[in-house]
Amino acid sequence: MRIIQTIKEMQAYALEQKRNGKRVGVVPTMGFLHAGHMSLVDVAKENSDVVVVTIFVNPTQFAPNEDLDSYPRDIERDKTLCKEHGVAAVFLPSPDEMYPVNSSTWVHEEALTNCLCGASRPSHFRGVTTIVTKLFNAVLPDVAVFGQKDAQQALVLKRMTRDLNFPIDIIIAPIVREADGLAMSSRNKYLSPEERQNAVSLSQALLEADNHISAGLRNIKEIRNQIKKHIADAKGSVDYVDIRCAETLDVLTAIEGPTLIAVAAHFGTTRLIDNIIISL
Ligand code: AMP
Repeated sequence: MRIIQTIKEMQAYALEQKRNGKRVGVVPTMGFLHAGHMSLVDVAKENSDVVVVTIFVNPTQFAPNEDLDSYPRDIERDKTLCKEHGVAAVFLPSPDEMYPVNSSTWVHEEALTNCLCGASRPSHFRGVTTIVTKLFNAVLPDVAVFGQKDAQQALVLKRMTRDLNFPIDIIIAPIVREADGLAMSSRNKYLSPEERQNAVSLSQALLEADNHISAGLRNIKEIRNQIKKHIADAKGSVDYVDIRCAETLDVLTAIEGPTLIAVAAHFGTTRLIDNIIISL
């Protein structure tokens, strides 16, 4: 498995693969890999010949008060996991490599980034779209795999790829969960044992909403309030519970087509997100 640290070497490697007729797949991550990330690698393997995992804790998607410095890192373990999963190359650039001094160009999606996590984290998606553009230009992939875990991010990156004409197929892979339902996340590491137990309320509340909707409940306000109460009862501090069109993120007045229910809540100081798509 190749470890690549510079953009130049990454591009040369990708171009060499393409010259040999190989389809390059990329799985962008911030590292501290878990089974959710590895499921993306498996999907990438099914859809390409050469899989590149990028590991970069992207400073521009963290606000000054957020957890950039404490974000969990374990590069050696990440490399082992990638090797075991048949990853061809890990792209591991430094912050200086990705953001040269005086970097002043941004990619900004304007329709899907103001609500949900974009409302709570105003500069977050500008950082995401900018770094993913830069990673696309470094890895030159034919296919890129992202997780449904970050539902809004997945929509934003699909829109960006279309709008900016990147010749890249975007695949969104399902959420991988712990046995009790908690969505896997590198940030779960921050949770105390009690917070970890309480955090399962996120997926439970979404599942309960799904059941209620299947049983005929359609009142959006009532569904939101039930979810909020479930999380608050488990000592979660709700950031948002939002029910929107799963394709456009438009606010819904009634549950009809594919519907995204997305939640964000703090357990202690840790902010977690989860979501479910309801298709009637
Ligand atoms: P991150 O390292 O958290 O930035 O995530 C990198 C990629 O992995 C993103 O596309 C995430 O949506 C995806 N991902 C993170 N957690 C999960 C999960 N539990 N299931 C599926 N994909 C995930």
